[in-house]
Amino acid sequence: MNEQAYKKESDYILEVKDLKKHFPIKAGFLQRTVGSIKAVDGLSFTVKRGETIGIVGESGCGKSTAGRTLIRLYEPTSGEIIFKGRNIAKMSEGELRRSVRKDIQMVFQDPYASLNPRKTLKAILTEPMITHSLYGQKERMEKLNELVEKVGFNPLFVNRYPHEFSGGQRQRIGIARALALNPDLIIADEPVSALDVSIQAQIINLMEDLQEDLGLTYVFISHDLSVVRHISDRVGVMYLGKMMEFASKKDLYEDPLHPYTQALMSAVPVPKKKGVQARERIILKGDLPSPANPPQGCVFHTRCPAATEICSQMVPEYKELKKDHFVACHLY
Ligand code: SF4
Repeated sequence: MNEQAYKKESDYILEVKDLKKHFPIKAGFLQRTVGSIKAVDGLSFTVKRGETIGIVGESGCGKSTAGRTLIRLYEPTSGEIIFKGRNIAKMSEGELRRSVRKDIQMVFQDPYASLNPRKTLKAILTEPMITHSLYGQKERMEKLNELVEKVGFNPLFVNRYPHEFSGGQRQRIGIARALALNPDLIIADEPVSALDVSIQAQIINLMEDLQEDLGLTYVFISHDLSVVRHISDRVGVMYLGKMMEFASKKDLYEDPLHPYTQALMSAVPVPKKKGVQARERIILKGDLPSPANPPQGCVFHTRCPAATEICSQMVPEYKELKKDHFVACHLY
């Protein structure tokens, strides 16, 4: 997708505004709420039709919870999820099922865990269509053949069970199942992290081909900066439930502004090129604080090499520093 396409505001398929997902911590005989884990704590970003948004961050930063909350597998604590102009954060389960469920699908990290081992490929792929009363019997079979072909399977595979497929093939099934209902938006949560590097490339290529073919929009969640760089148009960096920086891939990877992004980027090996200086590795001190007790002020201040006094006192505003480049940091 080119820069020009970004500028059309009406292209937004998804707008996430100050989204929060807090999990209560219960204790004692009466299971009273004594605190909360702020897994997602004020996330805002937009997704334009046909683009791929990458969401990166260390494990425990809340990116997977964010993905599941976007699709309402988790109930949001607060905030808005505007999907095709409607706030689905507050929609009843019935309305969600009737009007939105089939339009947003999820691809999971471990397809094996999400595939019923007692069902054949045919049953797995036709089940969503039956649940949503989509197509008659004949069209369902046509759609099944189309899906099988789209993800590169031999049509004879439809009677096989999940254990008869390899890891990469199982992820193809996960993708085909997500496509069964002709969705607009796919949230992919670490879709290639469990696969060998050579298989990762095949799945990424398949996802890119399908995007081109079907006009899909992706939110691609991963801890792997190189994979995200390959597939994304714009990228958001999360830390302790918050978006630290959000920008076009070029801006984020070539000129990261937030100290946390700079630290992440400094760990990515850069191929040696004449005239290009290797980045100095920034080692962060300490561990990721607990989302049950995040630091006051800027949540990154306990590890930030650029922190000043104000950082521990005031939450930095998440602001648009230049067109389409958002940063939450007192330095700016
Ligand atoms: Fe570092 Fe302060 Fe910026 Fe937070 S606000 S990233 S602590 S400089």
